Amino acid sequence: MATPQQVKEYLACWFQLGKRVSIHHGTKFLYPQPVLQGDRYSPEFEKCWQLLLTGQGLGDCYLEGTNQKIAELLEPSWDLIKCARCQIPIPLKVTGVEHTACVCSDMADLPNLDLPSPHRPVSSRDYLFKICSDLIKKNEE
Ligand SMILES: [Zn+2]
Repeated sequence: MATPQQVKEYLACWFQLGKRVSIHHGTKFLYPQPVLQGDRYSPEFEKCWQLLLTGQGLGDCYLEGTNQKIAELLEPSWDLIKCARCQIPIPLKVTGVEHTACVCSDMADLPNLDLPSPHRPVSSRDYLFKICSDLIKKNEE
């Protein structure tokens, strides 16, 4: 089962590639931009994620162009695995063979190594902190 955090990261990848989420039976779309702001997710994306998490008043929410319901991703019968081609997560139904094609399936130019691939926000402070604490640990050994 995917954790809410994994689903959130997956949606962040989805939106970073310019894809949308359809709501209200496909009559409206959510596509927060930008997705990232500095070392964190943007307020636009966070707001959208909270909205999708509660799902209130949105009707069924789908990844645009797929039969993948967002709410399903949070169910135990679904998991997220990494695409062998581009390393972006793909929803996989654990108890069956049904799965949604990876976001890259209709994007011939992926993976594009000349562009930054979709990623989590990177906090350089946390990163430095980790290096420091690793060094301290090493010295203590
Ligand atoms: Zn892929």
